[in-house]
Amino acid sequence: MRDFQSENGEMIIGGMAASEIADRFGTPVYVTDEQRLRDNYRRIHGAFNAHMPTDIHYACKANSNIALLRILEQEGACIDAVSLGEVLTCIKAGFSPDRILYTGVNVSDEELEGLVDAGVPINIDSFSELRRLAAISVDVPLSFRVTPGVGSGHHQKVITGAKGSKFGIPIEEIVDAFREAMDLGFRPRGLHAHIGSGGQSVEPFIDLVGILLQVVEDLEDELGLELEFLDMGGGIGIPYRPNEPEMDVEELAAQLTAMVLGDSKIKRLAVEPGRYVVCDSTVLLTRCVDVKRTEQKSFIGVDAGFNTLLRPSFYDAYHHVAIANKFNKACEARYDVVGPICESGDFLARDRVLPEPEEGDLVAVYDTGAYGFVMSSQYNSRPRCREVLVNEGEAELIREKEDLEDIWRHQVVPERLMR
Ligand SMILES: *Cc1c(COP(=O)(O)O)cnc(C)c1O
Repeated sequence: MRDFQSENGEMIIGGMAASEIADRFGTPVYVTDEQRLRDNYRRIHGAFNAHMPTDIHYACKANSNIALLRILEQEGACIDAVSLGEVLTCIKAGFSPDRILYTGVNVSDEELEGLVDAGVPINIDSFSELRRLAAISVDVPLSFRVTPGVGSGHHQKVITGAKGSKFGIPIEEIVDAFREAMDLGFRPRGLHAHIGSGGQSVEPFIDLVGILLQVVEDLEDELGLELEFLDMGGGIGIPYRPNEPEMDVEELAAQLTAMVLGDSKIKRLAVEPGRYVVCDSTVLLTRCVDVKRTEQKSFIGVDAGFNTLLRPSFYDAYHHVAIANKFNKACEARYDVVGPICESGDFLARDRVLPEPEEGDLVAVYDTGAYGFVMSSQYNSRPRCREVLVNEGEAELIREKEDLEDIWRHQVVPERLMR
């Protein structure tokens, strides 16, 4: 969990008081600190590139706001995209296609055609995808996603690398996949795996690289194929809880690059951090609209629910919360922070010790830059909220609030029902 400064009992984000931002833009609102985003990118880029050339492919499914993509484009990032929509969004944000790597699962022919038109490298997930792509074009920079048999993640729903996963080509068949690609006329360049999301230990990554290096050796021995790059996927976790240790990215980079440099001729690495780059850059500000004390429990009712931030309900994820306008006040009792969605599973935080709340207080939900806004919905006919960028004391709108027209826009009522 990231620490924030305070001034006169007020939480400060990117040089601005949280309540000033909320008063100006309304709530709920996602607030991203530009400097923090840049720092996170530079830290992981520096950690790996101190040892060997490494492309940092920002996994843009974590947060695909175009202003944030612009910032990372300026920083020199590459992109991990998992849909044609993400590919085209990143091209719109100024990324050249060769800086984007597409990794999909259950990819349709229609999507493959769009990717070929867009000119992006494709990371193949299955034999079926390989053959269907070959029927469209073999003039595509190609790599393969292997299921390494190593999984890690903060929740069962986000472990992707374990045996039996729907993702990737099973390790037993990966050499055959490369062979078939070469027979079809492709020149495969790289090998990729992604173990899962939000793990906090170095060991799964070490296991993963060991396995990938064995595949690299097999490809050389059996096919005479020398790969250009090894892509270790994403999944670097962040500490969401107070006093939780942070993954030491410099140590991770030192160990992984030493393995690669020591055991292979691979000259270039890729890593695909999503959460690590963007998560702690962003705070969700939500207004307390209702305080309810019952015999069993006390509730802080706020204007954001799982329509705005899904992770607590969906993954039982912990997000730290604070009352932004009572930042240094003593905590007095336990509260659940709950939203306006009509389901009992609608909560942002449970059993948190907080200062005495009142209607009108501003609740800050920490570490919401990754898998926050992008997973929001219009459930209960609630328009999606604004996003704001703050930088050294200045705030700018980077996404307008939706309105009801956005909810109604694509619906079609047959004429006969209007009579
Ligand atoms: C989701 C995803 C990532 C990023 O995961 P994080 O946990 O956000 O780092 C990287 N690569 C692929 C293929 C993914 O699907």
